[in-house]
Amino acid sequence: MKLFAKISMLFALSVMFVGSALAQTADFVARNGVFWTVDENNPRAEAVASLNGRLIYVGSNDGVAQHIGPETTVMDLDGEFVTPGFYDNHVHFEGTGRLLYGLNLLDVSDEASFVARVRDVHERYAPGTWIVGGDWSAYETWAEGEVAEAGREVNPDDLYGNFFLPNKSMIDGFTRDRPVLVRRFDRKVYMANGAALELAGIKNGIPDPEGIAVERDEDGEPTGALFNPVSGAVESTVLVRDNVRTLFSDLIPPPSREQRIAETREAWGKMASVGVTSYCDITSNPIYVDIYREMRDKGEMTARARYRPPLDRWESMEDLGIRIGFGDDWIRFGAVKAWIDGIMGNSSARFYEPYTHNPSSRGIWRDIMFPFERSPDNPEDMQSRLERLALDADNAGIQLTVHAIGDEANGYLMDMLERIIAKNGDKDRRFRLVHAQVMTDRDIKRGGDMKIVAEVQPFHTSDDMRWMEERIGRDRSRGAYAFRRLWDSGAVVSFGSDSPGTNASRYYLNPMLGLYAAVTRKTLSGQPEGGWFPQEKLTVEEAIQGYTLNTAYASFEEDMKGSLTVGKLTDFVVLSDNLLTMNPDEIKDVTVETTVVGGRVVYSAD
Ligand SMILES: [Zn+2]
Repeated sequence: MKLFAKISMLFALSVMFVGSALAQTADFVARNGVFWTVDENNPRAEAVASLNGRLIYVGSNDGVAQHIGPETTVMDLDGEFVTPGFYDNHVHFEGTGRLLYGLNLLDVSDEASFVARVRDVHERYAPGTWIVGGDWSAYETWAEGEVAEAGREVNPDDLYGNFFLPNKSMIDGFTRDRPVLVRRFDRKVYMANGAALELAGIKNGIPDPEGIAVERDEDGEPTGALFNPVSGAVESTVLVRDNVRTLFSDLIPPPSREQRIAETREAWGKMASVGVTSYCDITSNPIYVDIYREMRDKGEMTARARYRPPLDRWESMEDLGIRIGFGDDWIRFGAVKAWIDGIMGNSSARFYEPYTHNPSSRGIWRDIMFPFERSPDNPEDMQSRLERLALDADNAGIQLTVHAIGDEANGYLMDMLERIIAKNGDKDRRFRLVHAQVMTDRDIKRGGDMKIVAEVQPFHTSDDMRWMEERIGRDRSRGAYAFRRLWDSGAVVSFGSDSPGTNASRYYLNPMLGLYAAVTRKTLSGQPEGGWFPQEKLTVEEAIQGYTLNTAYASFEEDMKGSLTVGKLTDFVVLSDNLLTMNPDEIKDVTVETTVVGGRVVYSAD
């Protein structure tokens, strides 16, 4: 008896000793939560422990206790639902910051809201900074969130369309000497305030600048409205040249570094508030790499960036030794980007057959597709400039990401990828087909066979379905945003936002809108009942994976991000509702309670 007690005492002591010797003390613990980890080996947990920004434990409330020491910060989640931090595959970061901090008029088409928005930015901006952009009246034709039966009535005799038209007298009273140059969404019309007109030399008694029609009152005084030339084409009118932009381009200074940093903080603040902890930066000026460095060194970076230069810079990357895997936990490189066709928003995406609503157009190829010529090493091939660049970049260990929207654009890239594989050989290249918006059945299958990454933005579905069938018809629409078939084909479906959107649409950073779109295939107002092409819906578990682990994979970062797994970065999001058990129609309204990046709280709702 005595001996037994002694042995069990020893055993208990050794367990305690071993336990404390093996269990590292965490600097941060979150417990009492409902964790959906996106780790298939350990899908659910109650608690995590983190040390120096990385997870050292993912498991139970009991198990995490051994990692808590006197210095550990312990967060009680009170039963709330937690996912890995969201990884947005496609953010126009510079544009997002500018739109969030600056002027957004997409939903503005009346004087009161126009004045209020300009005044708001005027009060925020440093003195002397130009207020530009805006894109007013974008939603005057198609209300956001609606499935419309047909577009707004357009008078074919009115080349410029009968839209809201602001004038300088609405804002001159408070903008005073700050120049303002705002534009309508289609760039056919701009509006300059008094200060901007003065700088451009547009005034009473002076003839209109070449190629610009200046609206004037009965005394000859410019009202501020400036009209670009347009031509009457079939069914619609086309902007001929953006002469206003050309006239003002030398007058408007580039944003100051202070302005860029203010915009950057605004964008990161927004990301933290919606649970985005990593993003791929698509088109920012290279100066942002240095802004990231400065902010990282100051400890102010709250979302991790993967920066993508344009494809035609691949040689500079190779010269510097930059390839897949380059960078640290905060700022990474390794991919290049290119565009080969237009977008759905203005019917410039490239299709095999003409647009349904405009039989004279199949959309456009971007400049990078030209010239087409025969390849010296294979005279049978007609190669685009894109293809020559892509072959070399791929050979240098750089990841390719190429924008394709229309079915012919997607088809061209599948052809091109087959040739790249034939020439450069099989390897783990994770070709990112950016948008993959409208694909033929054959190309979906080829994409799966070649294990591509479909870099899609599911909210496009909710937005574009408003007019998709009118533009490309029912049959081609079947291949639009075909996430289910892409997923099942073997392609890796990765999600993101495409923030801030185009001059026709706003794409929000909020991942809940993307998850909602992928799971319900409805507009924001819940149409149509049952969803648009509902056979292409993903499950909510798949959609979460698309916005986390699959984007990490798409960026060669699945060993550091995308799931809550020991060894990975401690990036997670606490949500207001349990995505797995709630009504999918309500996912769009889910909010973020807390965002944690690297074991540090970067956003808290209260
Ligand atoms: Zn984009």
